[in-house]
Amino acid sequence: MESACIFCKIAAGEASAALVYQDEQVTAFRDIHPVAPTHILIVPRRHIVSVNQASAEDEAVLGRLFLAAGKIAAQEGIALGGYRLIVNTNAHAGQTVFHLHMHLIGGQPLRYPMG
Ligand code: AMP
Repeated sequence: MESACIFCKIAAGEASAALVYQDEQVTAFRDIHPVAPTHILIVPRRHIVSVNQASAEDEAVLGRLFLAAGKIAAQEGIALGGYRLIVNTNAHAGQTVFHLHMHLIGGQPLRYPMG
């Protein structure tokens, strides 16, 4: 755990968030600045800075992010309508929190590409 990392704190239960899903590897909570009716962040509980720092030992947790996304989409009632999964990496993608996270965005038709 990185003590200065807000997503580590949320995953450890040391900072508040609107949790929607948790298992032994990942935590998911609502984004504080939602860009669509459903906007959830799914994060590894263990600190990984970004995809650039992910290694072979992270393979299982990276897969778990996708499986959690599918479960949460069903839970939120947006699986059939559809949704988008986004993982921003570094400046050109606009990454602002340096703890790897997957955005789950849906609940309305989405424009593509964005930005
Ligand atoms: P990114 O630009 O991909 O790094 O996305 C970071 C996201 O984290 C943004 O959409 C923020 O609104 C969101 N965010 C930052 N701090 C929190 C927090 N404490 N709780 C929930 N969402 C947060």
